[in-house]
Amino acid sequence: MNAIGETVRHGARFVREHPQLLYTLFLLVAIPIAFIASGEQFVGVSRDTQDRLERSRAGLLADVFAEFAQYQMSDPARLSEHIQELQKGNETITGFRVIVPESENEYRVLASLDPEEENTLFTPGILDQLVLDSAHRNKGQSYASEEYQGGLRHWRVARAISTPPPVALGTSTAPRVVAPEVAGYVLADVSMAEGDRLTEKNITKAYLILAGVVLLILLLLARQARIIDYATLYRRLKEVDQMKDDFVAMAAHELRSPLAIIRAYVDSLDDEKTLSEGGHHILEKIDGAAKDLNLLIGDILDVAKLQEGRMSFRFESVDPSDTIEKVVESFRMLAADKKLAFTYDKKALAPISVDTDRLRQVLVNIIGNAVKYTPAGSVAVTASVLAGERVEIRVSDTGIGISAEDQQKLFQKFFRVKSADTAKITGTGLGLWITGEIVRQMKGTISVESIRGKGSDFIVSFSVAKN
Ligand code: ADP
Repeated sequence: MNAIGETVRHGARFVREHPQLLYTLFLLVAIPIAFIASGEQFVGVSRDTQDRLERSRAGLLADVFAEFAQYQMSDPARLSEHIQELQKGNETITGFRVIVPESENEYRVLASLDPEEENTLFTPGILDQLVLDSAHRNKGQSYASEEYQGGLRHWRVARAISTPPPVALGTSTAPRVVAPEVAGYVLADVSMAEGDRLTEKNITKAYLILAGVVLLILLLLARQARIIDYATLYRRLKEVDQMKDDFVAMAAHELRSPLAIIRAYVDSLDDEKTLSEGGHHILEKIDGAAKDLNLLIGDILDVAKLQEGRMSFRFESVDPSDTIEKVVESFRMLAADKKLAFTYDKKALAPISVDTDRLRQVLVNIIGNAVKYTPAGSVAVTASVLAGERVEIRVSDTGIGISAEDQQKLFQKFFRVKSADTAKITGTGLGLWITGEIVRQMKGTISVESIRGKGSDFIVSFSVAKN
C-alpha cells in the first residue's frame, strides 16, 4: 500500500515538474471519453432506428394477417399455411402464432410457424399479458414488448383478431354499430439478433480503433518523455553555461583591481630617472599587455551586462556627426602609423535617439576593426540621411575582407576569422557581438558587405528621431 502511495506521489511530482505532460494526460483521458460518449450515442440512435423499423414491419404484418385471419379462424390449417408463406420473405420473424383464449390465464395455439406448438396451451408471461391486454383494449392496433431469450433480443408483437362484423340480413333496419368481439390474437416474434450482432461487431471495431488511438498517444507520451529528458539536459547545460558566464564575469571583475595596481606601478616606475633604456622598453611592453588585458576585461564585463540585461542606456536625441568625428580623430594616429588614407567627410545629419556613450563604443569597435584589419589602402567613414528616414553610418575599408561564409558567423560570440591574414592580429572575437547587441538594444541595424581580399563595409543605421 505504501509502495503504491509512494509511486503515486512520485508520479504527481514528475507531472508537476513537467507541466507539458498534463496536456498529453488530458488527451489520454479526453479522447477515449469523447470516443466512447459519441460511440454510445451513435449505437443508441442506430439501435433505436432499427428497432422502430423492425417493430413497425412486424406490426404491419400482424395487422394484415389479423384482417385475413378473422374470416379463417375456423380453418387452422389454412392459417398455418399462410403463416409459413408469410415467413418466407421475412427471415427476422422467428415466431408467429394465432392464439385463442382458453381459460383465465391460458390460450390455445390455433396455428403457428412452429407446427409443434399447434394445439398446445400457451401461458403468457407478465410482459406478454400486458401487450395482449393492450391489444384487447385497442383492437385495431398492434403492441410490442422487448424480450430476451437465450441472451438474444426480440420484440413480441400482439394484435387482436376481431370477430367478423355481422352480415346484415334483409333491408328492413339500418345497420347497427356493434363493437367487435375478440376472436383471438396474432402473436409475432421479430428477432433483433442479427441487427444486434452487427452493432456489436461495429462496437468491437470502434473499440479496436480506440485502442489504436490510445496506443498512439502512449507512444507520443514515451516520445515526449525522451523530449523531456532532452529538455532537462538542455536546462542543465544552460545552468552550467550560466555558471561559466557568472564565473568569468566575476573573475574579470576581480582582475580589475590588481590590474589597476600593476598599471599604476608601471606608470610610477616609468617616471624613475635611474631606469635604463632597456628597462623602459620592458615597461612599455608590460603596459601594452596590461592595456590589452584591460580591454578584454571590459569586453567580458560588457558581455555579462548585455546577457543579463544590466547594460543601461541613456537615450537622447542627437545628431551623431560630432560623436563620429571624435571617434575618427581618436584613430587618426593609428591610421597614420599604418600609412592608411583615413577620411571622414563631416556634415550635419539628423537627430537619432541613442545613448551617445554606447554609440561611441559601437563606432570605436567598427572603425577600430577597419584600421586593424586593413594592412594598406584606406578607411573611409561616411554618414548620410536616407530619404529623411534613417541615418546611415558606413565604415569602408580596403582591408583583408571577409568571406561570405564567415560573414554569417561574424556577430557570434568569440567568433574570429582564422586565416593567414588574421593570425598575427590579436583580438577576442567579442567586439562585434557586443556591437551587434548594443545596436539592437538601441533599435538600430548593423550589416556587413565584404569581399575577401578586397575590403569590407560595416553599415550601422538608426531611424531619424521624430519630435
Ligand atoms: P576581434 O576582437 O577579433 O577583432 P570582433 O568581434 O571585433 O573581434 O571581430 C570578429 C572578427 O571579424 C575578427 O576576428 C575579424 O576576423 C573579423 N573582422 C571584423 N572587422 C573586420 C574588418 N573590417 N575587416 C576584416 N575582418 C574583420
